[in-house]
Amino acid sequence: MKIYYDLHIHSALSPCGDEDMTPNNIVNMACLKGLGLIGVTDHNSAKNVRAVMEAAQGKIKVIPGIEVTTREEVHTLCYFPSVDAAEDMGELLRKHMQNIKNRPEIFGRQLVMNSEDRIIGEEENLLINAINLDIYEVQKETKKRGGFFVPAHVDRQSYSVTSNLGFLPPDLEVDALEITESGLLEYSLKYKEYEIITSSDAHYLENISEPQNFLKGDGKITKKILENLYKI
Ligand SMILES: [Zn+2]
Ligand SMILES: [Zn+2]
Repeated sequence: MKIYYDLHIHSALSPCGDEDMTPNNIVNMACLKGLGLIGVTDHNSAKNVRAVMEAAQGKIKVIPGIEVTTREEVHTLCYFPSVDAAEDMGELLRKHMQNIKNRPEIFGRQLVMNSEDRIIGEEENLLINAINLDIYEVQKETKKRGGFFVPAHVDRQSYSVTSNLGFLPPDLEVDALEITESGLLEYSLKYKEYEIITSSDAHYLENISEPQNFLKGDGKITKKILENLYKI
């Protein structure tokens, strides 16, 4: 059984996310593309996860997630076993967030929506800034909530563990690594002892993955996902 996934999708809550990235648009586009599993991973917040999950009911499976910017400005994908756990992490991040207001005219609006795509609020603090927690603390807080910790786009030249720390710390416990499509060949060899995930990092509807990456069920994270979501 092949379950095609895209575990790195931004909604309209991310300032850089297109305003068309509404809960229903994300779900419907993912269904049209033939995906079976998506992850909603806005920057430093889980405020649209619940709405996407509600919109997805009976259509597609959704993993609650957050793309956390650590103190070192490293993007890390944190996936949670429930929306409550993701929102709890969101509360923690809120407490450790710099008090810098978003400037929508520059960065874009940060829309909180309900499952009918109605705007129910706007996040005032700029969500793309670094949180005042280091990468080890983010890892620990994710694990504390039963989550998976996955450094994002490790092959990129910015906001990645390799670009900002210079290397992947061997003592950092990760469940998998995310490598972009273009870096897959080179970096999956470099990190062949790790489980690798490839997703779109879509900020626009058209960038949501084609059905090309699927869960194999032989790695730690994917095995857990299969067990939890599909009872396999
Ligand atoms: Zn990122
Ligand atoms: Zn992202």
